[in-house]
Amino acid sequence: EDTMRKHYRIAIMGAAGVGKSAIVNQFLYGKFHKDYKKTVEDMHRGEFDMDGTKLTLELLDTAGAYKFPGMRRLAIATSDAFILVYSRENSESFREVTELRDLIHAERETDEVPIVIVANKEDRQTKVCRRELASDPVATESAIANIDWDSTFFTASAKEGINIVAIFVEILKLLSKGRDDL
Ligand code: GDP
Ligand code: MG
Repeated sequence: EDTMRKHYRIAIMGAAGVGKSAIVNQFLYGKFHKDYKKTVEDMHRGEFDMDGTKLTLELLDTAGAYKFPGMRRLAIATSDAFILVYSRENSESFREVTELRDLIHAERETDEVPIVIVANKEDRQTKVCRRELASDPVATESAIANIDWDSTFFTASAKEGINIVAIFVEILKLLSKGRDDL
């Protein structure tokens, strides 16, 4: 069963407005919109064929506001892997990613959870740099340098489609690695 059909749930988490819905929509539909409706949670399903293996991905697009801690805990408990997104324009959203990562480790009672960290809105980086001497992005970069990340890290742009596929390829790599270790 395992060799021919695989089914994974991936939760996309992070602060409101960092581009979680944009990443999901760019990956599944190759589209970018200016506005995505704010729902509490959206489940997307994608069917893929990878070297003859039928792959079903459930993508749980969570709300950033986390008014419902119970829903967040449920998302953490029921997902196989996590994409934690922050915006390069918002250092507060980076802090939220570090908190989410700690929360996932605590809730799952292990550090062996597939997590990919995404710094989104890469396309905006140069503009911010020129205008504001990049106070937030620089703080973000140095924070990354100083944190013991065993998670994989990508910069990305949902708008330009930069590194979006790579994020999911990496997640699948981490998930299959987890299986081999069993
Ligand atoms: P969410 O709350 O995390 O789901 O964020 P959304 O996906 O709704 O995006 C919030 C806003 O940021 C929207 O106006 C998007 O169009 C915009 N956005 C998302 N990703 C990018 C990106 O990579 N680059 C730029 N420039 N804007 C983005
Ligand atoms: Mg959203």
